[in-house]
Amino acid sequence: MTYRGRFAPSPTGLLHFGSLVAAVGSWLCARHAGGRWLLRVEDIDPPREVPGSAAAILAALPAFGLEADEPPLFQSGRRDAYEAAFERLRARDLVFPCWCSRADLAAAGGLHRDARCVAPPDPARPPAWRLRVPDAEIAFDDALQGPQRQNLREAAGDFVIRRVEGYHAYQLACVVDDAHQGITEVVRGCDLLDSTPRQIWLQRRLDLPTPRYLHLPLALDAQGRKLSKSERALPVDPADPLPALRRALAFLGLPPGAAGTPQVLLREALARFRPGVLPHCKARPAA
Ligand code: GLU
Repeated sequence: MTYRGRFAPSPTGLLHFGSLVAAVGSWLCARHAGGRWLLRVEDIDPPREVPGSAAAILAALPAFGLEADEPPLFQSGRRDAYEAAFERLRARDLVFPCWCSRADLAAAGGLHRDARCVAPPDPARPPAWRLRVPDAEIAFDDALQGPQRQNLREAAGDFVIRRVEGYHAYQLACVVDDAHQGITEVVRGCDLLDSTPRQIWLQRRLDLPTPRYLHLPLALDAQGRKLSKSERALPVDPADPLPALRRALAFLGLPPGAAGTPQVLLREALARFRPGVLPHCKARPAA
């Protein structure tokens, strides 16, 4: 099967160093395998969206030499597909409505584990919808982080797949679209390592294929915080792409290259790239 990889940014701000690492890492893995590299704009969370950032991210990537092989998929246009997946789960009694507030949930220990809502139903308010999860371990082999296992009930509980506001949750949209785009390899940051068992469980419930996964280390700032969450997550500058691109390549274990255009740096990096050069850790300082 042809390798199909993807980069799936959320338009919650400009492209920053952490997301550039995910973009370059997924691009290198796809190109090294002679595969295709696709884009997906995860614009399913309007309250968190920063206007203009989707366009800015899409415009920035080619400035770093990262050209996708197909037009980007926008999740905002995929509501019907998520709703169809949700209805499929509902028809099979795999989901339940939930009216819990944060306080209800905190009082119940922080996670739903009993396949039912702990708050009384409130017909005046729309519910969130949660997927029932089993007391079972999901195991998978991460191509970089090695064998992983997670007990879904212990680690995630019955998780939300459709929010009170009617938006579909990331976990559902992600598995529906990875299948829709024919993704065979998911290369992304380690912040999503613990989402992967939930996604595998959803794929099994929806009869969707499970891609292979590779979770890249997260870039940390000097205080050890994830870059995208810290105030220092300064956007990378598409008008001056070489410094950030060199840092991203170095972060991924590649000699950052001397001079040239981003395309030249990427071509040199690709010639030296093997998945084995990637650092086997969950997080590391950005510089
Ligand atoms: N949209 C997610 C993010 O920007 C990435 C999702 C994924 O790669 O599965 O963090």
